[in-house]
Amino acid sequence: MNASCEIIRDLLPLYVDGALSDASAALVREHLRECHPCRLNYRQLKPVVKPCAVPVPDSRTEYGEFLRRLRTRRTILQASVAASMATMATLAIVAWAKRR
Ligand SMILES: [Zn+2]
Repeated sequence: MNASCEIIRDLLPLYVDGALSDASAALVREHLRECHPCRLNYRQLKPVVKPCAVPVPDSRTEYGEFLRRLRTRRTILQASVAASMATMATLAIVAWAKRR
């Protein structure tokens, strides 16, 4: 096993899991095409790693939901502040009118 085989075998679980960058995955794929021992290792590893893979959440969807809730809360807060200011202004006008 040469140095590149060692590196490829370290990367194989991540490769099977789909967690490598496109460039690293391409490097592993290219090595597997040319290296029979690593290809065998990959074939043995694939059924072991794949069932354990945790699905990556769609963070864009979660982030979108988070922003939607944040905007709703902001709108409620702004409406509450506006209603409070309107009430205070009305009370101030009533108090000012009673003094006269
Ligand atoms: Zn190899």
